[in-house]
Amino acid sequence: MSNRTIAAIATPNAPGGIGTIRISGENAVEIAAKVFKPVSGKNLCDFKGYTAAFGGVYDNGEKIDEAVCLVFRAPKSYTGEDVCEISCHGGLYITKRALRAVLDAGAAPAEAGEFTKRAFLNGKIDLAGSESVMALIGASGKQAAAAALNTLDGNLSKKIRECADGIIGVCASLAAWVDYPDEDIEDISAAQMLPVFEKTRADLAQIVRRYDCGRAVTDGVDTVIVGKPNVGKSTLMNMLTGFERSIVTDIAGTTRDVVEERIMLGEIILRVADTAGIRETENVVENMGVNLAKRRLERAELALAVFDTSVPLNSDDLDIIEQCKAKKSVAILNKADLPAAADRAVIENAFPFTVELSASTGAGRDRLEQAVAEIMMTNEFDPAAACLTSERQRQCCIRAMSHIDEAIAAIQGGVTLDAVNVCADCAIDALLELTGEKATAAVVDEVFSRFCVGK
Ligand code: GDP
Repeated sequence: MSNRTIAAIATPNAPGGIGTIRISGENAVEIAAKVFKPVSGKNLCDFKGYTAAFGGVYDNGEKIDEAVCLVFRAPKSYTGEDVCEISCHGGLYITKRALRAVLDAGAAPAEAGEFTKRAFLNGKIDLAGSESVMALIGASGKQAAAAALNTLDGNLSKKIRECADGIIGVCASLAAWVDYPDEDIEDISAAQMLPVFEKTRADLAQIVRRYDCGRAVTDGVDTVIVGKPNVGKSTLMNMLTGFERSIVTDIAGTTRDVVEERIMLGEIILRVADTAGIRETENVVENMGVNLAKRRLERAELALAVFDTSVPLNSDDLDIIEQCKAKKSVAILNKADLPAAADRAVIENAFPFTVELSASTGAGRDRLEQAVAEIMMTNEFDPAAACLTSERQRQCCIRAMSHIDEAIAAIQGGVTLDAVNVCADCAIDALLELTGEKATAAVVDEVFSRFCVGK
């Protein structure tokens, strides 16, 4: 690893009460001492770790600000290296000029995420923990922040390590059997292996499910409102957002583009797209909108399928029912304030959740809230449990689960034990990639490239 000393502004690039320049590396204190002079007259280089001094920040001998400098000594710092943090007044000009002085004194500009990357490389934090730093910074609510902090505390890595250890135990017995076939080593039996694989798989599945539930609370659910023209999609969108966002008319085919909005439905953030009504049409422009709507439906995680219950269902409705079959979807029986004419049994049989609603009066919104919470399983989201904080981590879990499935199938199919061993090894690799114990340099670089400078 490079031993250059790095520096960056660690506070936001905006005027504020305090602006902090963070310096990390072998020469951090020496460099800070060239720029920062304590009023006590002491030399910063003589300071122990966990000490602070009040003094002046100087650029080319000119005093540019008053500041406090914190000194941390390796390994007891964020990065595990010597670190100085100079906190001056948070003016944009002042912080930039102080950074310039630090760079002139010998520091190199830090890359995005480089401080946390050093913390990872110096063993201060694991890869999953590093990612939770970004999740914590980006958290938009209480539950999301609690989940990120929980991962930063190491709860996820501990749980993943437990999963890996179970499989490593099986592998150790398998390896002895594979490596020394002539020795009189007792065969590890299916009855011993299967419970370990099955429990690990169940634990991982629960972690992934919790992440999926959590995403509805942290990032929001990609949602699409579908339905043939005039069933009340735009009215529903307006009801959910609380203001006139979409054009509402009673001329079929007036919503031709996709309108997107973030709305809170109870605890859940829905990233909703209201689309052109899906129906067979000759109109070229409307047709483009319809195609867009169909693609949007395929991509969306949740579909709110709207039906007008005041008129009988037609083939366009049946089409929508068909297209929603493979999706998480809630059927909305709209215009419940009007006399019913649609055969609701057809809809109820096709959807796991059906909600009676009047988009124009708002009646039934609480039932919709309840149905969406149930289908997204947000009730199962527990920020205090081991939480994944990135798609990368989720992919590692999914990979581990699929290798465990292969191992289980191999055992049940009576395949030789070395095949089971290979599958188990792959599962372990995926889990250790998650915590970073076995992540390649490319994976590590990719993780930190998403960080901000100064973190
Ligand atoms: P879209 O084409 O599916 O977006 O449908 P709109 O939202 O434009 O609504 C079509 C017509 O149905 C408008 O005249 C709305 O006022 C009316 N409408 C929508 N929802 C309701 C409802 O719940 N009750 C009643 N009575 N009319 C509704």
